[in-house]
Amino acid sequence: MIAEKRKLVFPFFLQVPVFLRTTVSAYNAVSGGGSAYTIGGKVTLQGDCEMDVFVHESTHVFDGTYSLSGTSAYLEALYEDSCVPDEYAMTNNVECFAQDMVVFVYYLWDPNFLQNVCMEYEIFYINQLTVPGVQAYKTMVGESHLFNL
Ligand SMILES: [Zn+2]
Repeated sequence: MIAEKRKLVFPFFLQVPVFLRTTVSAYNAVSGGGSAYTIGGKVTLQGDCEMDVFVHESTHVFDGTYSLSGTSAYLEALYEDSCVPDEYAMTNNVECFAQDMVVFVYYLWDPNFLQNVCMEYEIFYINQLTVPGVQAYKTMVGESHLFNL
């Protein structure tokens, strides 16, 4: 049973950018209804969670490490943009940053994903981050052989 659960979790875990994963000290998968939370550097996933949840929660740890969602540059980006990713992102700047990261990851995988430019400043903010691993990940995703198994 545990081995089966690992098989379900592993593909999602692999899709979380390395620069996010390296800030997380542990991922815990427990039973539940598909929600998740982060305490300190640990992410707990309750039940079946989509990749978006992995990225969102990992971003909370990343943000806790580098204090990005409260910078004046990010808050100015929020002010400049006319929308945020979804209703949950309207909760506060911390949740918005985590949701922006999900959008950013999809954007890297497929630049056509970001058709709506109403959040371009938020995405640009993440795109220009110089914290460890972000720029390297962008380069890696741009290559045609992301996974060579
Ligand atoms: Zn959150």
